Amino acid sequence: MDYQHNFKKKFGQNFLNDENILNKIVKEAEIPEDTLVIEIGPGAGALTNKVKDVAKNVLAYEIDLDLQNILIDKFKDTNVEFIWEDFLNRNIKEDIKDYEYSHIFVVANIPYYITTPIVEKIINSGVDVEKVVIMVQKEVGDRFSAKPGNKEYGSISVFLNYYYDIKELFIVSKNCFTPRPNVDSVILSLTKRKDKPEVKDEKTLFRLIKDSFRFKRKNLRNNLKEYDLLKIEEVLKKYNKDLTARAETLDLNIFVDISNNI
Ligand code: SAM
Repeated sequence: MDYQHNFKKKFGQNFLNDENILNKIVKEAEIPEDTLVIEIGPGAGALTNKVKDVAKNVLAYEIDLDLQNILIDKFKDTNVEFIWEDFLNRNIKEDIKDYEYSHIFVVANIPYYITTPIVEKIINSGVDVEKVVIMVQKEVGDRFSAKPGNKEYGSISVFLNYYYDIKELFIVSKNCFTPRPNVDSVILSLTKRKDKPEVKDEKTLFRLIKDSFRFKRKNLRNNLKEYDLLKIEEVLKKYNKDLTARAETLDLNIFVDISNNI
């Protein structure tokens, strides 16, 4: 390590220290030349330093002002800019308005304590992010990328699958970080879907997904008591299913079909 830093647990600070993993993230992210990369939590800039060599520009959000000493000096006169604030409080659309680019990617080893808020923020930003390549806790990655029938499959898997094709790229051992965390991690890629299903009303879809998974062990009849069950049953029939099915067996398209018919 070529810097001094007091690591802060409250900011989820586990910095990557493995050169091979850093190279592998950038390689597998497949960042086209004319890309603006948004990074959340550059830390001491290990990943930033690799990404800057392949991207057109990097815009990095860092909440810990103590890292200014390291980062400002390290990235002076480069294609990297910083915003020293909580990513969750920013208006991303506004922040990137002066950049020119053909693609926008998010590439980041994010702070795990706000994994879901970060992903939701990206989805709701109104910015056309083509691909998100992020490191997350292994068990969170398993949930995000789970397919129907898998025990990890839940409302977040269906919700994310509405926006993205999700893949676990590779696992990263806890030994690759300073300080060493308690859990292993995984690199996820979330590629924006070009074939997003047609939905009459997103709010209805999202409420249906949430309610269907309310009690994991209960079937749809029990979890969806307040809905028009006859209509739901009619849709389920098309898929050879009925109200005794559990939400964990339904794929996104079935949820979409139900929500378009209630
Ligand atoms: N990217 C670096 C690396 O791979 O070595 C650091 C990763 S560390 C897991 C997460 C980083 O996110 C820390 O630098 C932390 O200070 C920063 N961070 C935490 N909360 C943040 C927030 N709300 N907005 C922006 N950065 C944040």
